[in-house]
Amino acid sequence: MSSYEDRDKCHFYYKIGACRHGDRCSKKHIRPAISATIIVPNMYRKTDADNPQMVQENFDAFYEDVFTEAARFGELQAVVVCENKNDHLSGNVYFKFASPRDAHAAKDSFNTRWYNERPVYCEFSHVTDFRDAVCRKHDANTCERGDECNFMHLRRPTSKLLVELEKAQWRQNHVQ
Ligand SMILES: [Zn+2]
Ligand SMILES: [Zn+2]
Repeated sequence: MSSYEDRDKCHFYYKIGACRHGDRCSKKHIRPAISATIIVPNMYRKTDADNPQMVQENFDAFYEDVFTEAARFGELQAVVVCENKNDHLSGNVYFKFASPRDAHAAKDSFNTRWYNERPVYCEFSHVTDFRDAVCRKHDANTCERGDECNFMHLRRPTSKLLVELEKAQWRQNHVQ
């Protein structure tokens, strides 16, 4: 790839899967024709509660729901959820499959569904390595940009739930 092309590409769109300028960005946003990762923008809505335990419990229920639904289409390598508050990242859910073919099947199916009384909108995403996309400061609770940060602020499921989901997926893919 030439350096000219590199300069022309929107870093945020390619590395984080969403850019605050959206379609009005002066740099290029070219959707991948196929990818192992799909994105559903603005899917997760944080529970409006002061009780952090309740927020986490509701999140875990959401996470289990979407993980289980996506896992029907094939092996998942990652499901990540953003809890940023800015429009382009708020509640974004990324599903990374082992196979682009499975991601394609999931995308086609999701695009026919409704979630929370809204039609689901799902597309392929360039993001395959979330390490470059995640805000490390948020993980350390020190992000000075807060909810408006342009890197992913992830909300994670409780580790017990994640272990259960991964075990269930392993059984599904290894026992016929
Ligand atoms: Zn952009
Ligand atoms: Zn941040």
